[in-house]
Amino acid sequence: MTLIDQHGRTHDYLRISVTDRCNLRCLYCMGEDGIAQVSHSNILSYEDITAVVRAGAELGISKIRLTGGEPLVRKNLTDLVGSIKAIPGIKDLALTTNGILLSQQAADLRKAGLDRVNISLDSLKPDVYRRTTRCGELEQVLAGIEAALALELNPVKINTVLMKGLNDNEVLDFIKLTLGKPLHVRFIEYMPIGDHDQKYLDHYLPLSFVEETALKAGMPLSPAPLPGGAGPAESYTISGGRGTIGLIHPISRHFCDKCNRLRLTAEGNLKACLYWQDEYSVKPAINNHDALKALIKKVLGGKPVEHQMAADGSCGSVKPGAMRTMSKTGG
Ligand code: SAM
Repeated sequence: MTLIDQHGRTHDYLRISVTDRCNLRCLYCMGEDGIAQVSHSNILSYEDITAVVRAGAELGISKIRLTGGEPLVRKNLTDLVGSIKAIPGIKDLALTTNGILLSQQAADLRKAGLDRVNISLDSLKPDVYRRTTRCGELEQVLAGIEAALALELNPVKINTVLMKGLNDNEVLDFIKLTLGKPLHVRFIEYMPIGDHDQKYLDHYLPLSFVEETALKAGMPLSPAPLPGGAGPAESYTISGGRGTIGLIHPISRHFCDKCNRLRLTAEGNLKACLYWQDEYSVKPAINNHDALKALIKKVLGGKPVEHQMAADGSCGSVKPGAMRTMSKTGG
């Protein structure tokens, strides 16, 4: 079975936010006091999430990513990992995390069936990291990265949101991470989504900045195969690199024509596009396998041809205020 939308795109990927809660307060994502939290009783249970994945798998979903909020703050995540991994048709199970709790949990997650991990890290300087996350300790993330490498949760990817005035002077340090270790550093364009007190336009930088910085430093980026074979990044390497450098341009060179993903929010709303207001609750269908399958097809049927985020921070016909933050959508 294959899930194809009305624009001809095959969908085999479901990203699941397992919680909207987070142990960091990144400047561009949440306000200092966090977000208005969904109560525990409204969050999908692991059984509910597994039911949605089972329905999706029968329709052609083969790749799952667990995200949040911060997925590692939800208790017993290994139980969910084990249940999803046991579903026929699920070939790839990944996790996106800020890495703070990863060194403590990585071995159990690996044992339960986790295949690979993406770790978000916006600065390699302890003070800048603490300022950006409002509380994070860089050492803990670095320990998480080491644990992921040691356990071969490969490819180990580092996600870095490039922001003018914040980490644009660390581009070369991040690129150099790919020299010593098989790490895949992906620079991501800052999106006008999240804590709107941030002055988006003051911080947005197109990723051509990364290419120019590398070139000026005598480390030109050459095209390289994508680690893991697929994804939205343009992939490069530098001479002598063991890992790769990915550029993910959701704004300046968006990849909607290749989009293969659906999203499930922590409280159980299915979305076909990160930046689109339509979403449907799975709750009324949660005990009915065929109804869940029908709902997944319905959500896909309404998928827009492309998102409406623009580099000027505007959002087309998407109603202001209708959008969720990344932490609520499962960034
Ligand atoms: N807590 C996990 C983590 O930190 O990876 C998963 C959730 S977090 C919302 C997922 C990713 O979204 C992070 O890499 C974060 O940097 C990114 N993100 C959040 N807001 C963003 C924005 N406005 N623009 C670009 N990326 C953003």
